[in-house]
Amino acid sequence: MALLLKKEILTHLKNEIDNGVKQTNKRPGLAVIIVGDDPASHVYVAMKKKACEQIGIASFEHQLPADVGEDTVASLITALNHDDAVHGILLQVPLPKGYNETTLLDMISPEKDVDGFHPINVGKLLLGRPAFQSCTPYGVCQLLDYYKIETAGKHVVIIGRSNIVGKPLAAMLIQRSKPGNATVTICHSHTQNLEEITRQADILIAAIGQSKFVTADMVKSGAVVIDVGVNRVEDPNADRGYYLSGDVDFNAVKEKCSAITPVPGGVGPMTIAMLMRNTVMAFKQYG
Ligand code: NDP
Repeated sequence: MALLLKKEILTHLKNEIDNGVKQTNKRPGLAVIIVGDDPASHVYVAMKKKACEQIGIASFEHQLPADVGEDTVASLITALNHDDAVHGILLQVPLPKGYNETTLLDMISPEKDVDGFHPINVGKLLLGRPAFQSCTPYGVCQLLDYYKIETAGKHVVIIGRSNIVGKPLAAMLIQRSKPGNATVTICHSHTQNLEEITRQADILIAAIGQSKFVTADMVKSGAVVIDVGVNRVEDPNADRGYYLSGDVDFNAVKEKCSAITPVPGGVGPMTIAMLMRNTVMAFKQYG
């Protein structure tokens, strides 16, 4: 179903872009910088490129070897910040060892920060002001909205406090907005009595990075469960030598909850759709 929603969002964006091109002869551009050869990163970049092609966003891919050095990446970011054909810049993380991710991400102009990672956009998000929102949590909120899952007054428990998922998602769901107005608890590896907390959740969101971490006994009957995790589990019998698994034990938990997102095909497609939406927004605002 998330795939349907993604298709709907992309179709809408494509129409907007087609109309814009007719009127102005300009189209949005997204630059993607990928350093090194992390296989998962290459898969994600290919998916982003495909989505750009589908809807008419010009995509500029910069593949750099792992040993290219931080200065070269920094110079490229500066050049892209000044490139009028580029409205969104995405630095694919994780970077290889030795690179300062924070320094480089902070160099991306906040006006082209379609990943929503820049401190200015994160700060604005927290303050409830318009900002580029981090794509994965933004996608989770779209799913909640689309499926009319009420968040107001509900207890949302998020497992994971990363800067790209857990923290921004909490910031979104506590806003006076829809979805929002939730009571949010964030859990992490130092949380005590985790199961007791997760069992209180009306909406449980897992962003941990450990296959099948959330078991049925951690979930309240009738809860909504959102699985952000994408884990590669080695399997010699699988075509690629591995299969993808979420952070939730899907088969066991689905019997207990009222709604659940699958992996793959749940939050992942929404992340891509939100990246496309942010790029179109950057083009419309600053293009
Ligand atoms: P991080 O590794 O940055 O964060 C994981 C979080 O889980 C941390 O806050 C960590 O706690 C917490 N955690 C780890 N072990 C436990 C535990 N035993 N009990 C409670 N909390 C624990 O991961 P990300 O946020 O980047 O990603 C999380 C998952 O989501 C990954 O599988 C990733 O692949 C996936 N992902 C999916 C996306 C999509 O588009 N579908 C996009 C982004 C990520 P602590 O802070 O204390 O270490």
